[in-house]
Amino acid sequence: MKRREFLQSSSAVALFALSSRRAAYAAVRSGATPDVAAVTGDGRPITLRGADIEDLAAQLRGPLLLAGDDGYEEARLILNPSFDKRPALIAQVTGVADTQAAVQFAQAHQLLLAVKCGGHSHSGQSTCNGGMMIDLKDLRGVRVDPRARRAWVDGGTLLGHVDHESTACGLVTPLGTVSHTGVGGLTLGGGFGRLSRRYGMAIDNLESVDLVTADAQLRRASAADHRDLFWALRGGGGNFGVAVTFEFRLHPMRRQVIAGKLTFPIEKARDVLRMFADYAPEAPDELYMDPVLLRPPGGAPGLATVEVCYSGEHADAERALAPLRKLGTPLQDTIQAVNYELVQRMNDATDARAVATYLKGGFISELSDKLISAIVDGLEGHPDRATLLFFQHCGGAAGRVAESATAFAHRYALANMMTVVGWPHGAEPQEHIEAARRHWRALQPFTRGFYINDMAREASVQDVNENYRGNYQRLVAIKTKYDPGNLFRLNANVQPAGRPLRQEARGRLTPFG
Ligand code: FAD
Repeated sequence: MKRREFLQSSSAVALFALSSRRAAYAAVRSGATPDVAAVTGDGRPITLRGADIEDLAAQLRGPLLLAGDDGYEEARLILNPSFDKRPALIAQVTGVADTQAAVQFAQAHQLLLAVKCGGHSHSGQSTCNGGMMIDLKDLRGVRVDPRARRAWVDGGTLLGHVDHESTACGLVTPLGTVSHTGVGGLTLGGGFGRLSRRYGMAIDNLESVDLVTADAQLRRASAADHRDLFWALRGGGGNFGVAVTFEFRLHPMRRQVIAGKLTFPIEKARDVLRMFADYAPEAPDELYMDPVLLRPPGGAPGLATVEVCYSGEHADAERALAPLRKLGTPLQDTIQAVNYELVQRMNDATDARAVATYLKGGFISELSDKLISAIVDGLEGHPDRATLLFFQHCGGAAGRVAESATAFAHRYALANMMTVVGWPHGAEPQEHIEAARRHWRALQPFTRGFYINDMAREASVQDVNENYRGNYQRLVAIKTKYDPGNLFRLNANVQPAGRPLRQEARGRLTPFG
């Protein structure tokens, strides 16, 4: 067959395949796909033509969901049910090719675009009204190479999956503290957990990230490739594209750690916080502490708890825990030798969607007596609302990295302090949100910025910019280079310099740009 004939026949085959997949999509929808009302990134209403939606569906291996389709109602939700948003389209991508097609479509139509991994965003950034959601729930998988001490993690994976695979090989990488949190959002924002004082934050253990950028190109970011992007991805959040693979370094660690909780009545709250104030700065790197104050709903007695995880030699654990033992006899003591993977599931939600939540958080570099008073005095009880004040112990290896080494700019932190209120989903939220804000107004003066992964839903552009501290200008330059039209804006957004440029979607995609 002559080359021209071959090309003609192969494009005919491709066209036939495309039109039959489009027809299959239309058949599933029992008829032609309707035009769909949508919004652009800057909020302009647009109409997506049914034929264009069918073309996109035909390019995807995973489903493309519209309102009314099976699975749409589940897919549009994130963990916090108070974000009740309805994307115009949900692309449940299965790999790089699907992700590129979805990004290209969003770019071509200038669609508002949300990316969902674990759906844990406190500010609801992983869903949207009227735009496209790229749902990574079918892009989950972990491959461990025990000899190279590396894990390759797909962009939609939850962190429990990584712990499961790595601990089976006697290896770990430091991720967060709740196993159903997404590796995607957690890592791109920084990633603190029970091992970050020992091995650094999640970003400090990244070797490379494969990323689909706003021009739908696949790029590898590492110390050798796209180094600017690699720097920005370590703390700059979802600003730069869709991360499809993370490569993490792994560390040998015995499977059992010494972990659990000491629980005291709430009247002990000041003592618990003073212990943390004194001991947290000098604790060994192997010790992670998380003081938690709880006012349960309905007048049940309040509790002051210290969660701990000691990952060093078991023989040294009691010495490391001695300052906690001085708190006296607890109501309950669950500290014991236990599999790290189980500890990582200790705080998993059983029915997260039943409770709506609102969180405020900020980094502290010390826990002064004044702050302790503001915390304890402001912790209100309520018939329907649970109020929680808790910390994540920072410092150690996470604090020994230069602030300009990665985009994450809060290496000084002793702890991340957060207050959360939770109320039954469906109840009027305003009263509960106001209570949290009231408490936070007294605490905020003691903080020095916030963790972008705990960004409040009302954070202003100025709050976000300032929060990147000395790294902000460099982030703007990298954002302008890779996403000049601000396609990836549902995050702790770094706005590109100058007028947003309109990028034409590219016709042909190469494996690595
Ligand atoms: P999503 O809501 O899916 O996404 C959050 C943001 O990340 C969005 O802007 C999204 O677009 C972007 N994003 C997600 N995946 C990708 C990807 N693959 N490519 C590009 N962009 C992406 N943080 C800690 O550091 N340590 C903890 O121990 C910890 N515990 C938590 C426990 C709970 C119950 C909750 C609700 C949050 C916790 N967090 C913790 C905060 C957590 O890091 C953030 O909520 C984080 O954004 C969650 O990531 P996700 O993928 O689940 O979220």
